Amino acid sequence: MSRKYYQEEYETMPRDKIRELQSKRLVEQFKYVYDNVEYYRNRCKEAGVTPDDIKSIDDLDKIPFTCKDDLRATYPYGLFAVPRKEVVRIHASSGTTGKQIVVGYTKGDLDIWDDCAARQLVAVGADEDDIVQDAYGYGLFTGGFGIHGGATKLGCQVIPISSGNTQRQITFMQDLKSTVLCCTPSYAAYLGETLKDMGLTPKDIYLKAGIFGAEPWTEEMRRDIEKSLGLKAYDIYGLTEVLGPGVAFECSEQAGMHVNEDHFIIETIDPKTGKRLPDGEKGELVFTALTKKAFPLMRFRTKDIGVLNVEKCKCGRTFVRMSKPMGRTDDMLIIRGVNVFPSQIEEVLLKQGYAPNYQIIVGRENNTDTFEVKVEMTPEKFSDVIAEVKAQETKLENALLTILQIKAKVILVAPKTIERSEGKAKRVIDTRKLHG
Ligand code: ADP
Ligand code: ZN
Repeated sequence: MSRKYYQEEYETMPRDKIRELQSKRLVEQFKYVYDNVEYYRNRCKEAGVTPDDIKSIDDLDKIPFTCKDDLRATYPYGLFAVPRKEVVRIHASSGTTGKQIVVGYTKGDLDIWDDCAARQLVAVGADEDDIVQDAYGYGLFTGGFGIHGGATKLGCQVIPISSGNTQRQITFMQDLKSTVLCCTPSYAAYLGETLKDMGLTPKDIYLKAGIFGAEPWTEEMRRDIEKSLGLKAYDIYGLTEVLGPGVAFECSEQAGMHVNEDHFIIETIDPKTGKRLPDGEKGELVFTALTKKAFPLMRFRTKDIGVLNVEKCKCGRTFVRMSKPMGRTDDMLIIRGVNVFPSQIEEVLLKQGYAPNYQIIVGRENNTDTFEVKVEMTPEKFSDVIAEVKAQETKLENALLTILQIKAKVILVAPKTIERSEGKAKRVIDTRKLHG
């Protein structure tokens, strides 16, 4: 009989006690960040806020926001709060201009991350007897290592297979008898199809649960994946800036993700005014890290839109639940789990001598994202020799791959054939209906 919670004391703490704990930790953490991060201290000084002003969680609104721009402005180490030798791990994610943002962890931070990820694993019914196939990408992306740490701490057997090599994934599922699969939902869907293509059925493998996150997915997709792989599929939310996977996790109820509130405060705000919204109203999600030491963000604006639910959950956990992200306040696309900004594509086109007349077309076929970039040839580059056009397309595809880390199909079209807009250019056509 597997256990119900990983850290019951916290996961089922009465709400007034959670608030008390958050309040105490917020006061300490604000002072810690103020004292140790010069950039943020200056921001607070501009706003006229000092640690004396933050006496409890009721003063949260007084604390200035941190935005993605702040992370880029301080690249690489400007928001770190500990000496570099205490930072034992770095992760990174792409920013709006293609520039990386870099985050870091102390040993203690990694320990907290492991706990957060372990809570997710326990919530899907995993324990020491389980074999976790970690098919999130390993590397600077937080997915692979995040789950890896939690599963190791819990005592599962981890298969650090990373993403890709799809047939081998299936072979390992059969031979090593993996019981829990962790990867992006689109990769899970692809694995489901591959299983079928290999002439196998869910009866030939041993999976019972899947932890799928890092990109938006629908309930419909959940049902498809559950059927094709013969498991129960759970959502997990995270972002590099705040921690990585494990900021919030779904439980057996599959109805919203519990935010690890002993480590993070979540708020929803009106993205236009920055004003805090009552629970239950849709708004931009904002996180404050209460316990992280190396990279401790105060009121980080995620640009994800969501809703909070404080109702008690049937699973017994008292942590607030956040909805699946319902969209973004910026134009970031998540394609096959990778963050892509139209501005990155535009930059590549301009560098390669094209005019910014292009269209990004994203769709979903057989549960896998399709990604095409239609680009007008300039009169100088124009050619009607197929081989020449093909060569230009390949060159552009390679340039895009280097920047985006994901393959796009480039289609070159004749000059002046992409429709011009009279208002805002419609650069992105996304037919995936991810938030339906
Ligand atoms: P991650 O390693 O989780 O992909 P990134 O920093 O690369 O982290 O991207 C974070 C963004 O990914 C979030 O702001 C959100 O838009 C998206 N994301 C993460 N998890 C989910 C999820 N479960 N559902 C929908 N979107 C998600
Ligand atoms: Zn629950």
